[in-house]
Amino acid sequence: MHCYVHIPFCRARCSYCDFFLVTRQDPQERFFTALYEETAARLAAFYGRTIRSVHFGGGTPSYVNTDYLGRWLETASRFVSLSDDIEITVEANPEDLTSEKLHGLAALGVNRLSIGVQSFVPEKLRALGRCHTAEDAARVTEEAMKVFGNVSVDLMCGAQGETAEDWQRDLRCTLSAGVPHISVYMLALEKKTFLARQVKRGLVTLPGDEVQAEMYGMACEQLGEQGFEHYEVSNFSKPGFFSRYNLGCWHRESYLGFGPSAHSFYKTGGQERRCANVSSMVRYLASPREARESSEILSEEARINEKIFLSLRLSSGLEIDGLLDYHGGGKKVLEIVEHFRQEGLLEIRKGVIKVSRKGFLFADKVAEELLLL
Ligand code: SF4
Repeated sequence: MHCYVHIPFCRARCSYCDFFLVTRQDPQERFFTALYEETAARLAAFYGRTIRSVHFGGGTPSYVNTDYLGRWLETASRFVSLSDDIEITVEANPEDLTSEKLHGLAALGVNRLSIGVQSFVPEKLRALGRCHTAEDAARVTEEAMKVFGNVSVDLMCGAQGETAEDWQRDLRCTLSAGVPHISVYMLALEKKTFLARQVKRGLVTLPGDEVQAEMYGMACEQLGEQGFEHYEVSNFSKPGFFSRYNLGCWHRESYLGFGPSAHSFYKTGGQERRCANVSSMVRYLASPREARESSEILSEEARINEKIFLSLRLSSGLEIDGLLDYHGGGKKVLEIVEHFRQEGLLEIRKGVIKVSRKGFLFADKVAEELLLL
């Protein structure tokens, strides 16, 4: 079992971001009191279970006092065991990572840092509305490597005015920092964001899909040459540095989410359940024990569709026998697989269907054609 803890505070909202978060600091103390209350109430039902990973995400967990994260770990430890080799990840932004903060996180038992660098190019950071500078990004990545070793860097391509040279510089700087895990995201225009409004008013023009696809292709090629395994659509890892928490979610292992807007997935008594917490700070603070807003027991069809969808985003792929079973041995599904194979989007090796390097970009679209209707 895994745990996700949503820390919904950020210094400022980036222009492209639509996550659930607040940029005010004042509710922090009340928020953490509520978070511990929710955690104790929910984990009591899982008393004695072993947790294999904890992921502090957000928002920006590095923005808050590290003591708050330590107190969450203490609260959880009263109900569940943290495995001896537990992975504890904290998502962090460069502007927060002073030397004191890095060492403070390590002292809590945090052993993996995921840094939202996004870019090492000043103009690009400004276009994305990030709070850190290119110098912050370089300094912090280097220091985090010394303290943690197990560091992931997020990079984003497709910002306003970004050129192939800019993207090349981002890849070069990340590789020279020696980090063992890199996540590559293509900027997506989310409704109701500042960036979406700017684009709509014609004040900002973003590089098109083809340019983004080229940049993504550059990343796949160059990271592959440097020994990174492309193990999920957006994720690249050196051997032994895969994100245990994320892999757990993609392999449909149980995880419990705490905090506003957090999601959970768990299996009990032969049933699989997905739940979501309220996306409202006011409602969360009012009754953290009743934070759950929706809960759904998955049907057999929903389970299978999730399995197909998630497996095709991973380099480990999907067993073709399994896919045939799901479809009752249907010939039609084999024709669809063959069609994508001929288009170069799918490969079949040793009875396993996987997306090709070209296909990674279209993994969701390919999966949609293979789902049960
Ligand atoms: S730091 Fe991350 S979570 Fe916070 S506003 Fe920016 S993109 Fe969103």
